[in-house]
Amino acid sequence: MEAISNAALAGIPIQINTTFTRQNFCEFDSFVRLLDEIRPALWSVFQLVPTGRGKVDDLLTGAQMEELFERLARLSRTAPYDIKTTEGQHYRRVVLQQAHGAKPSGARAPLGINDGKGFVFVSHIGNIQPSGFLPLTVGNVRKDELLDVYRNSPLFRELRNPSLLKGKCGRCEFKTICGGSRARSYAMTGDYLGEEPLCVYQPPLRTARSSEIASAQQIPVRMRP
Ligand code: SF4
Repeated sequence: MEAISNAALAGIPIQINTTFTRQNFCEFDSFVRLLDEIRPALWSVFQLVPTGRGKVDDLLTGAQMEELFERLARLSRTAPYDIKTTEGQHYRRVVLQQAHGAKPSGARAPLGINDGKGFVFVSHIGNIQPSGFLPLTVGNVRKDELLDVYRNSPLFRELRNPSLLKGKCGRCEFKTICGGSRARSYAMTGDYLGEEPLCVYQPPLRTARSSEIASAQQIPVRMRP
């Protein structure tokens, strides 16, 4: 807190990263009060992926994650800071659902950043992976061209192709802007194209019309990828 105060005095914008788990979800309101005090430029809210030291037992349930996203989406309308989620791709779906009926202004929701889609991770030993949470190595910067791996490796190409998604993510009308966390699907099911394990949304059985998606993407929302 002292470092944050000193940074603020020096005019350095602050970003607060928070990971919500079953242990601290009950403290959401306290976090918000603290943020009111800190006035960061950005609140980056991470959703746990059970990889590395992350444990399945610490994960929010799907219902808790939905409640968290609903609270974040409501807060984003009035908060004096931006809010973004990491590995919480279906927050975009919640924001769009809450904004449904808002008058389109021409502002565009951001594209659906996901593991390997608008994002690439290089480890401390140079391994190229879709993200730090999806530790599948498909090259190394010591011998491979990063741009070439990102653009052309079969894994990255699969991850950027929403038509390959399985289960309910595969038939969901939000799959282009959401698509679920590929890292969490891999960590919990072993399939990086499998459905997001912690999304409670049940898409209709029919395939959504592209016009519905295009319309949804024109709804102005205050969020970052
Ligand atoms: S079903 Fe999948 S694509 Fe649809 S909102 Fe949930 S996580 Fe996103």
